[in-house]
Amino acid sequence: MTDARTPPDRGHDSPALPLEDALARIFAELRPITGRQRLALRSALDQVLAETITATEPVPAHDNSAMDGYAIASGSEDGQPLQLVGSAFAGHPYTGTLHPGECVRIMTGGVVPAGAGAIAMQEHARAQDDTVHVAPWPKPGENIRRAGEDLAEGAVILDAGRRLTAADLGVIASLGRAEIDVMRPLRVAFFSTGDELRSLGQPLGAGEIYDSNRYTLYGMLRHLGVDCLDGGVVPDDPGALQQALDEAAEQADVILTSGGVSVGEADYMGDILRSQGEAHFWSIAMKPGRPLTFGRYGTAWYFGLPGNPVSVMATFTQVVTPAFRRLAGENADPTPRFRMPCLGDLRKKLGRLEFQRGIMAPQADGSMAVQGIGRQGSGVLSSMSEANCFIVLPADSGDVAAGDWVTVEPFGRPIV
Ligand code: AMP
Ligand code: MG
Repeated sequence: MTDARTPPDRGHDSPALPLEDALARIFAELRPITGRQRLALRSALDQVLAETITATEPVPAHDNSAMDGYAIASGSEDGQPLQLVGSAFAGHPYTGTLHPGECVRIMTGGVVPAGAGAIAMQEHARAQDDTVHVAPWPKPGENIRRAGEDLAEGAVILDAGRRLTAADLGVIASLGRAEIDVMRPLRVAFFSTGDELRSLGQPLGAGEIYDSNRYTLYGMLRHLGVDCLDGGVVPDDPGALQQALDEAAEQADVILTSGGVSVGEADYMGDILRSQGEAHFWSIAMKPGRPLTFGRYGTAWYFGLPGNPVSVMATFTQVVTPAFRRLAGENADPTPRFRMPCLGDLRKKLGRLEFQRGIMAPQADGSMAVQGIGRQGSGVLSSMSEANCFIVLPADSGDVAAGDWVTVEPFGRPIV
């Protein structure tokens, strides 16, 4: 029986592990879920595509007009007056064939009639009864959108493993597909640990604080498109923690907790995992967000985040997000980062990768620049609200002087 309050064997696997090493070790173990489901197209937004989408037909299906104007017969002569023989409106094609010297009135999206060689935009045409004069004369093929110009028949349009965007839904709809196969959502059970934590609606006693991590985690999990199961606040009590872990492991693919993973006073989580599961305790060489636990409990993966609210968000973006994407079956690109000048000085000690909170904004000339937020403590959660990006400072960088270029990782929500 290990004494939960004795630090020696609760030490970390290594003194300080670079973030990329921790990620590599996690990725080497993770096995994505395999369950899939067929969903109505709309419900598939933000879910992970589980099939390859191929164009079964060309889109658009027919050559059609890019302009309101006149479809001119091939073989007509530049400048010749044209005989108006009919119309081709969107959804109402002209069924005849054009002969040299003829034209039809055509609207944007109207099918280009057989025999037509170009579209004259209406601003370049003048109609008198059934005769149309065109100047300037269009070049061959001008203002015609070709069949298959958007999606060529047989082409692979979207690969399995892609998290579906608004544009993707539209592209799939343009092929006429009403239902598609997606991965079932990853199920994540999460809870907060700490005797000092109270849930919302409860009065605060001496030394108590409200549990904010469960709300930031809820928000970030929702943005990841996972199904989340909120396990509430669990006190620093071995029996209660074990029960919470058992329940979570029964229902979820992944258990995510915050608090109680540091070499702290009442850190029972480590002991439970060591005896009932499998766990790696790492001190990650990043700031904020030093301690991290990764392992398994029962059939579930386990991620234990530090308790400090900013550390929770930083570790979630840097470790949990890529891991959960992988588990959900997504082939994710890394979160985009950009280089831009920093408007003020930043203090930075050598040795650890830092994620300082910043605000990036366009300057007078339209280029972007970033400014650090003064209060960088790992308990200052409002700095995350105020910020719109991390300023990512590598382990080997020291202080930043105003005007130096830095790497920025924006956060916020996608629009498309
Ligand atoms: P711990 O990792 O449990 O030692 O917690 C580190 C710090 O984060 C302490 O100040 C805790 O009170 C605080 N903390 C832990 N969990 C939460 C939470 N769910 N919401 C807000 N603060 C928390
Ligand atoms: Mg704690």
